[in-house]
Amino acid sequence: MRNTHEVTNQVPPLVGHDAADDPALLEALVREGAGWAEGDLHAVGHLAGSAQAQEWGRLAEAHPPVLRTHDRYGHRIDEVDYDPAYHHLMATAVRLGLHGAPWADPRPGAHVARAARSFVWGQTNAGHGCPISMTYAVVPALRAEPSLAAAYEPLLTSASYDPTAAPPLTKPGLIAGMSMTEKQGGSDVRAGTTRAIAQADGSWLLTGHKWFTSAPASDLFLVLAQAPGGLTCFLLPRVLPDGNRNRMHLQRLKDKLGNHSNASSEVEYDEAVAWRVGDEGRGVRTIIEMVNVTRLDCTLASAGIMRQGVAQAAHHAAHRSAFGRHLVDQPLMRAVLADLAVEAEAAVAVAMRLAGATDRAARGDEREALFRRLGLAASKYFVCKRGPAHAAEALECLGGNGYVEESGLPRLYREAPLLSVWEGSGNVAALDTLRVMAREPLAVQVFFDEVELAAGADHRLDAAVADLRAALVETATLEPRARRIAESMALVLQGSLLVRHGHPAVADAFCASRLGRDGGLAFGTLPAGVDTTAIIARATPKVP
Ligand SMILES: Cc1cc2nc3c(=O)[nH]c(=O)nc-3n(C[C@H](O)[C@H](O)[C@H](O)COP(=O)(O)OP(=O)(O)OC[C@H]3O[C@@H](n4cnc5c(N)ncnc54)[C@H](O)[C@@H]3O)c2cc1C
Repeated sequence: MRNTHEVTNQVPPLVGHDAADDPALLEALVREGAGWAEGDLHAVGHLAGSAQAQEWGRLAEAHPPVLRTHDRYGHRIDEVDYDPAYHHLMATAVRLGLHGAPWADPRPGAHVARAARSFVWGQTNAGHGCPISMTYAVVPALRAEPSLAAAYEPLLTSASYDPTAAPPLTKPGLIAGMSMTEKQGGSDVRAGTTRAIAQADGSWLLTGHKWFTSAPASDLFLVLAQAPGGLTCFLLPRVLPDGNRNRMHLQRLKDKLGNHSNASSEVEYDEAVAWRVGDEGRGVRTIIEMVNVTRLDCTLASAGIMRQGVAQAAHHAAHRSAFGRHLVDQPLMRAVLADLAVEAEAAVAVAMRLAGATDRAARGDEREALFRRLGLAASKYFVCKRGPAHAAEALECLGGNGYVEESGLPRLYREAPLLSVWEGSGNVAALDTLRVMAREPLAVQVFFDEVELAAGADHRLDAAVADLRAALVETATLEPRARRIAESMALVLQGSLLVRHGHPAVADAFCASRLGRDGGLAFGTLPAGVDTTAIIARATPKVP
């Protein structure tokens, strides 16, 4: 075919850059006690920005996993076939320690360094982050049963990725999942009907179904089941110590909106062998340790999606012209980009603050444990809730190109709502915020102590904190106001962090629009006078 035209005004791909060259992230890394990890983080950033890793991310999503229930002779095998790109992503994530390094090497800042690496590497592909996050999260729950932790923790934190189906204790490294949700209830896991019967050898047999179990080719699962003493947590291997498959049958894989590289299955347990973790009847208390860690990762991943969205949008606007000027020089596009950047900076600041709290709590700091419990519930609610709107607006900055798969923006848009749905859907996370406040009054004190470290620095923040205190006085009507309260808590926490540590232009724009309410409901409605130049410069990735 003849060339009919010259291709102009198309934007060069955002590839070959350092995805960790992100001022908001790097500042938070140092602030939260992991400055020692900065060199490594840039290495991860170069890897994540490489053409190879970007291609793995694309391929893994374009070729979703396929369930193989039987072999050619009709034996049940319950295997999941993944694209090789998925295994490359997994192997790299495991090598980088995203699945468990801080448990094996708990030096100060280890969880912060791991959070920053996950934030950066997660920008290649979100789906494989699910099993990586669950493996990271399983360790604190497993520690409720020291003998099981002693056997499995070294393998759950090892740097070897081995996707084969084999007895866990014979493998060089393990991946873990969690199996709680049933047809009749996911938020209300106490409604679970899977039964557990004790065996003479100390093991249990589990029978029932699970309506959602992601990463079903994992080696180990934490499963909730009803024992005689009530809902209990169990550790269930995919392959038994004798090499036989456990009776964990995959019925089908979910056909999902997004998150395509990750398999999410429906499972039948038919007298599957498992071992008890934690006390009988205390299953929720045991597995909540795992859920809290995955909630941190949801908040981080939402912040990561925002960072990717605004980086793509700013990159596009820097190269694309319309009406005779680059988009980035058009005042209204500057308003949109700056607003997206402010949201992304606020999200990473609070996510990294919570990673810091996780780190300090893991080393015995009880105030930080309380801060994390409450701050995480509110931030999981709000940051994840902002994700889909942010992704939609970032996509629109690329115009029609943003709506096309090749741009990568549709992947972000499809992934974003999931982070709000799982590990405590919006209402559940908001209600959890109230629950923590009711059960742990000291957490409320610790929370306000943190926020008020910025007292007097910005009148809009001071006023928002006073409003929040007033909103908590009347307790009879708290439940229908749970979203408003969780939102206000997340906003004042973000505001306090930005006022104390953020770039002044970002802090000012945040306080004016989010706390002073001098802005609209859509992105791109920052008040006049905001320093958009400084804000956009921080958000624009440097391409070699
Ligand atoms: C892609 C994907 C992967 C998943 N992977 C796993 C997995 O690996 N393991 C696993 O165990 N689960 C998994 N889940 C399940 C997920 O955790 C649940 O879907 C989630 O917890 C919500 O439960 P549900 O779907 O039963 O909804 P429901 O509990 O029925 O909730 C429906 C709606 O009601 C709201 N709601 C619930 N209670 C209240 C209340 N008291 N007041 C007001 N509103 C309320 C919720 O916020 C939600 O909006 C996965 C889900 C998805 C989408």
